[in-house]
Amino acid sequence: MPANLSMESLKAAVTAGEIDTVLVCTIDMQGRLMGKRFHARHFLDGGWEETHCCNYLLATDMEMMTVQGYAATSWASGYGDHVMKPDLSTLRLVPWLPGTALVLCDLLDHHTHQEVPHAPRAILKRQIARASAMGFVPMMATELEFFLFEQSYEALRDANWRDPKTLGGYNVDYAIFGTSKEEEVMRAIRNGLYGAGIPVECSKGEAETGQEEINIRYSDALDTADMHSIVKNGVKEIAHAKGRSVTFMAKYRHDRVGSSSHVHQSLWTAAGAPAFFDETADHGMSALMRHYVAGLLHHARDITCLLAPYVNSYKRFVAGTFAPTKTVWSLDNRTAGFRICGEGTKGVRVECRIGGADLNPYLAMAALLAAGLDGIERKLDLAPAMSGDAYLGTDMPEVPKTLGEAASLMKGSAMLRTAFGDAVIDHYHRAALWEIEEQNRVVTDWELRRGLERA
Ligand code: ADP
Repeated sequence: MPANLSMESLKAAVTAGEIDTVLVCTIDMQGRLMGKRFHARHFLDGGWEETHCCNYLLATDMEMMTVQGYAATSWASGYGDHVMKPDLSTLRLVPWLPGTALVLCDLLDHHTHQEVPHAPRAILKRQIARASAMGFVPMMATELEFFLFEQSYEALRDANWRDPKTLGGYNVDYAIFGTSKEEEVMRAIRNGLYGAGIPVECSKGEAETGQEEINIRYSDALDTADMHSIVKNGVKEIAHAKGRSVTFMAKYRHDRVGSSSHVHQSLWTAAGAPAFFDETADHGMSALMRHYVAGLLHHARDITCLLAPYVNSYKRFVAGTFAPTKTVWSLDNRTAGFRICGEGTKGVRVECRIGGADLNPYLAMAALLAAGLDGIERKLDLAPAMSGDAYLGTDMPEVPKTLGEAASLMKGSAMLRTAFGDAVIDHYHRAALWEIEEQNRVVTDWELRRGLERA
């Protein structure tokens, strides 16, 4: 299911007065949509060719701080422009915003018109091209979890973000009556996204009070990353229009389960055959798939920083919460970091369970692909699957415990440096260090509660 607008159909819709606004968006380091709202006539008149944005969009933090320490841009270099080049294959309707369409852009260097190497979309495209040169098309899906709150974002902000109240009052995992009560928002989300050319499979209640999941049909990796970013933005916009709010934080309360973004992965041949499937092999896993999964395991700790990019992300990795604590693989076992799904069928695939709902899908998928392709190139051997409760395993490699640990592992990864380039790894290492610097600087509620009287 491709994006659902061509330039011709956009032109017709503008002429008919059905569309007057085009969101021209790029992806920032956090995986968010950033850009401009174009009058549709201006977009058709030439805006579709290119527009510009400040290059700090690939050097700010969540709060748009002008973080220093990046080689790519700074006050010293004057924060110049990037070119935003619309990828017209992503043009689509945004049914939940009146009269609106959306297009995603690649970011190009203002002077050379080459893709900016640390732009998330460019990073993923390079790994896809690498897979393609090896004869494979990576197919992926992300399963996004989030919490749905009764209050609007404005009400929560007025309350200093304290005590968000979930719309659901108890665990509605797979429950129909429980989720029927959330249908005003969830139905609008499913149908709105579907109308934007996003093949929604289903939504369901998840295993924590107020938690939801939305599944989108798998597609090629770039399309999946694009859809993931649009889904996150769309879910927020639709909830907001209903006077509600959502969070994609990995962990919004320490005493509640966190939100994940599992990534399902398989490789297919250019002719459309499932390269991970061999009906004569154990579990239907081809030798190629075994090498890919071995690559994922070999590099899992080194790529975690790109699956869990914030200090908060690491608070999700808690035993007994369905979030993994060990970088091991298993067959249909939800306690391991990697789970084989669709065993013995053409749909056999590996699900990475490490990433949280806060991941940047382009960086996460690029890192997973880089690790898996390295496994194929080096023909890495796959150790036997684990079984039982991985949370109890004592001799299994651990998911890094903190952002600091994960950032150091990423920085030292020769595989990532070769795959992404030194400058790109150094850029995202700086982003991780900044998160830690901010966390170290700020006095938190927790410190006040503990210490104000008793210290
Ligand atoms: P679960 O048991 O986790 O609920 P689902 O059948 O719902 O599994 O599939 C989870 C996700 O995996 C869906 O988004 C689906 O589109 C995706 N998926 C299915 N087949 C493949 C495949 N061959 N490669 C990648 N993703 C796939």
